[in-house]
Amino acid sequence: MCKESAARAAIAAAQEHCTLCPRRCGAARREAAGLCGMGAEPKVARAALHYWEEPCISGRDGSGTVFFSGCTLRCVFCQNQEISTGGFGRTITVERLREVFRELEAAGANNINLVSPTQFAPWIALALEEAPGIPVVWNTGGYERVETLRLLEGKVQIYLPDLKYVSPEWSRRCSGAADYFAWAAPAILEMFRQSGPYVVDKNGMLRRGVVIRHLMLPGGLAETKRVIDWVAAHFAPGEVLFSLMSQYTPAPGVPEELNRRVRQAEYRAACAYMADCGIDEGFTQERRAAQAEYTPPFDLTGV
Ligand code: SF4
Repeated sequence: MCKESAARAAIAAAQEHCTLCPRRCGAARREAAGLCGMGAEPKVARAALHYWEEPCISGRDGSGTVFFSGCTLRCVFCQNQEISTGGFGRTITVERLREVFRELEAAGANNINLVSPTQFAPWIALALEEAPGIPVVWNTGGYERVETLRLLEGKVQIYLPDLKYVSPEWSRRCSGAADYFAWAAPAILEMFRQSGPYVVDKNGMLRRGVVIRHLMLPGGLAETKRVIDWVAAHFAPGEVLFSLMSQYTPAPGVPEELNRRVRQAEYRAACAYMADCGIDEGFTQERRAAQAEYTPPFDLTGV
């Protein structure tokens, strides 16, 4: 089956009985939304240049971010609840999505950065049949099915997955998905299979590859070490980049144990562990960086 037919077939299947993400909730999205809150057409809350990703993604000119509505996870600390669980956004056609990509490219974006895209994977794959002239970034929480990722092969050059947790206790408590790691680990290996080792151009911009992100949580040093252990065990130097993030900011209503920033001592210990494990290709953050700086207004700009 050609790739376009595969995307169209996957759209038709999702409209009847959706199994695109690990929830496999079986919603008939033609008629009703699934657990991700989304129905039968792409829904987008903002499409604009964004300057707060890793330097090799944002560069000087910005990353062309498209923020999709809905989410397949339920993170208690989500900073984008307005669009992830609140459902804010505008429903658009695949053709309009293609135009949005063209507009971002014309505005000088370094790449097309698809944020929280999983619930619309086949619609996006269809839109990408007309390949942008800049890299496409799949910016995801990491809770993915390998079968769905295969729709993107040859269309996405850069994968930017979170690896949030290893332990089922943490992922159940914080994201409502005890099986998170069981899906995220093979998904990241599939992303690497598709992209190969990372490639940075002479201007320091990432052209292809995988950047694994991990947002450290308060009290989560042991869990962060488990994540680092997995990355060190599965990738050799020069294969992937690792981004250890310290920007956690408590969202209203988070459980008591998550209701503080990550302490400097916790973050320093995580950075030291990362170095001890031989992971020196990637990014760490100034701890003072606040989440609010990274969260743009969701106001339908560019949609
Ligand atoms: S993408 Fe949404 S509708 Fe499809 S299986 Fe996942 S939660 Fe259900």
